[in-house]
Amino acid sequence: MEDCKNCGAPATQGLLACAYCKTQRAELKNGVSCPKCLNLNEGDNAACAHCHASLTRPCIFCGAASSVASASCHKCGEAFEGAADRKRERETMELIGKGVQLLGAMSNEQGGTGNLLEMLIAESQKSKQ
Ligand SMILES: [Zn+2]
Ligand SMILES: [Zn+2]
Ligand SMILES: [Zn+2]
Repeated sequence: MEDCKNCGAPATQGLLACAYCKTQRAELKNGVSCPKCLNLNEGDNAACAHCHASLTRPCIFCGAASSVASASCHKCGEAFEGAADRKRERETMELIGKGVQLLGAMSNEQGGTGNLLEMLIAESQKSKQ
């Protein structure tokens, strides 16, 4: 581990750039910027080598933790961008689906949708008289 070429500070294990002057070291590969202190970490760090902030974020769909550098979940492939909105949308659709199933089951118990319709028509005709 070399000292910083710019300011001479000792290199921090796990960081790809100097923690003091942010000068990148020569062996820079795919770095991950810490969302908290903005230091450049090695790509496979689970936490920032400088401030120990987590460099992963949990997927709200499958719960797997992915690097903050990746745009989508490494496990289920869901993009993090707008994930909360998509999840809410899907839950609403699921609820509607369940509601329709429930309605279907209820009308089956009462002798099928056909009979239910006939009953409704009969009711409306009754009220006209
Ligand atoms: Zn430096
Ligand atoms: Zn940090
Ligand atoms: Zn996921």
